Amino acid sequence: MNNIPFNKPYFTGKEINFISETFNNKKIAGDGDFTKKCHSFFEKKYGFKKVLLTTSCTDALEMAAILFDIKEGDEVIMPSYTFVSTANPFVLRGAKIIFCDSQECSPNMDTSSIEKLITQKTKVIIPVHYAGIACNMEEIMVLANKYNLFVVEDAAQCIDSYYKEKPIGSIGHLAAFSFHETKNIISGEGGMLVVNDPQFIERAEIIREKGTNRSQFFRGEIDKYGWVDVGSSYLPSDMIAAFLYAQCLSLDDIQKKRVEIWNSYYDQLKILEENQLLKLPYLPNFASNNGHIFYIVCKDLNERTELIKELKNNHISAVFHYLSLHKSEYYLNKHDGRDLPNTDKFTNCLLRLPLFYELDNESIKQICDVILNFYTSKK
Ligand SMILES: *Cc1c(COP(=O)(O)O)cnc(C)c1O
Repeated sequence: MNNIPFNKPYFTGKEINFISETFNNKKIAGDGDFTKKCHSFFEKKYGFKKVLLTTSCTDALEMAAILFDIKEGDEVIMPSYTFVSTANPFVLRGAKIIFCDSQECSPNMDTSSIEKLITQKTKVIIPVHYAGIACNMEEIMVLANKYNLFVVEDAAQCIDSYYKEKPIGSIGHLAAFSFHETKNIISGEGGMLVVNDPQFIERAEIIREKGTNRSQFFRGEIDKYGWVDVGSSYLPSDMIAAFLYAQCLSLDDIQKKRVEIWNSYYDQLKILEENQLLKLPYLPNFASNNGHIFYIVCKDLNERTELIKELKNNHISAVFHYLSLHKSEYYLNKHDGRDLPNTDKFTNCLLRLPLFYELDNESIKQICDVILNFYTSKK
């Protein structure tokens, strides 16, 4: 039997040609031709007002924290069931993180419990669209408007996913995407900041270019550039953009394939959900599915540990996901002490199955059979 890894990055074949072009042009710093091509690709395809490639999603979120002028003592509301990168950029600027519990039916934040977490100090809400499945953005934006808060969407997992008819990442004031090797389209490391609120466009360019107005200079809008604000270096080399552009050209093909795999898992495993043996991903009717993660929710930690072992015995690598941030070594004693029972449930019970472009039908069936047998033998 074949070993089935959890992830296998997909290369379209064009990456190396595009990277060679940057060599030939002797242009490998940031904001070269391929960066511009990526920017207009995403702006056209998804109608994003302004896109800026960054060195990672984490860095795009750092830019957001600077753009929102986050200061010591500001409060930021986000789910606890997320990656450290949702929190760190804000913690670095002195913010206190107020964790919101997940929904009972999904790892996404329970929007109905956000309002009671808002205080005079609240500045930002960060929805994380887990597995590329949208949070209830309408409810979040109503609260943001009512209390004058900013919203940055952690859309790391969300390329090509939608909330109603709007692309994820087009609704918050800002949004951050990731092109890390584990995401749907990749550049090894990499990300992008989407700026939907025009008040942030000019400053975003400056922060990304070490606090200088070099972008305006390159466009010929000013005749010299200098230090005008705080900032850092958040722009990737054009070699990275060249890799990403190859992936962009195959985006529709990659997405079609991933969604097919996701649907195939869903169809083969839904009998187990019907018999109440496990839970499958919950897709609200306002959310599309971009095939980023296929997960199941086991009954408890023990069952999940046994199932991981059983899959491993069959040469299949399946992995759990986040350890709740409110219980992390770093944040435990900074958290306000509230219990977050749904977050804990997903920390203990959620299991991700292999999902990558080259996963074939035979392997999917092999994985599902192990899971089906595991649950039928338990009954
Ligand atoms: C992958 C991921 C990130 C981090 O992305 P990088 O590009 O590696 O910085 C942040 N948040 C979420 C929810 C992620 O899945």
